Amino acid sequence: MKHNIIDVKDKVVIITGSASGIGFELAKKYLAYGAKVVLSDLNAGSLHQKVKELKSPNVMSIKADVTEEEEIEDLIAKTKKHFGRVDIFINNAGIQHVDSIESFPTETFDKMIAIMLRASFLSIKHCFPTMKEQKFGRIINIASINGLVGFAGKVAYNAAKHGIIGVTKVAALECAKDGITVNAICPGYIATPLVLNQMADLAKTRNVSVEKVLEEVLYPLIPQKTLIDIDDIASLALFASSPCAKHITGTSLIIDAGYTAQ
Ligand code: NAD
Repeated sequence: MKHNIIDVKDKVVIITGSASGIGFELAKKYLAYGAKVVLSDLNAGSLHQKVKELKSPNVMSIKADVTEEEEIEDLIAKTKKHFGRVDIFINNAGIQHVDSIESFPTETFDKMIAIMLRASFLSIKHCFPTMKEQKFGRIINIASINGLVGFAGKVAYNAAKHGIIGVTKVAALECAKDGITVNAICPGYIATPLVLNQMADLAKTRNVSVEKVLEEVLYPLIPQKTLIDIDDIASLALFASSPCAKHITGTSLIIDAGYTAQ
């Protein structure tokens, strides 16, 4: 037997938007498997609280707004200074806004593209030199089923997530000979604050009560009739980070309870 299926021991992982939801879940999971984790978020207060919660010498936090190029550069530089390397970079920070195209605020569209698409480009741009020098790297872009199929009311989210999949493919090609893989993870609906907060908006646009959104709007679209287990997203990321995934690159790993199979 050559490898354990999951092996991220001593790897240094940076996770953006990790003071909440999926990002924090990823942090806990990587830590449990022996990685050194950098929690990063815009929100300094919850970042501080989450790091305290983890109580581990293998964790550090760095406040960074992913829309600011210098803050991404600084995040990578501080990580290298503290842990000596950057092995895995997870582009996870994201926000949601639901509105029809006619009433979608243009500044919100620009902001969402900056957080979820432009930031992925920037972090890859600034991680590549280190990863190429190391001859090892794993970049994981948290996309969405909305990077594969459209959803009315989510124009900026869909544009950003479709865009990330394009960035993933190009980046994978540009580092194919350097021991680096770049992949997107496309989750369906997971029970995190991001999804729970959009229930009220969905209720408004679909003209149903908030309580009925799951049953009447989401579940009819989901063959397995369930939200995705957040821990399974973290397991998929760990797998994509492990040695046995070295030939998986430029692809979209879909975990959606059957949503896009239809
Ligand atoms: P969340 O709201 O719980 O967490 C997102 C985090 O991103 C927050 O901590 C927030 O402070 C941070 N953030 C926002 N703007 C930022 C910025 N400019 N710089 C740095 N950090 C910033 O959301 P989540 O559900 O955990 O989503 C995480 C990722 O997963 C997002 O990219 C989202 O699109 C994707 N996703 C979520 C679901 C789901 O069902 N929750 C499904 C598919 C994909």
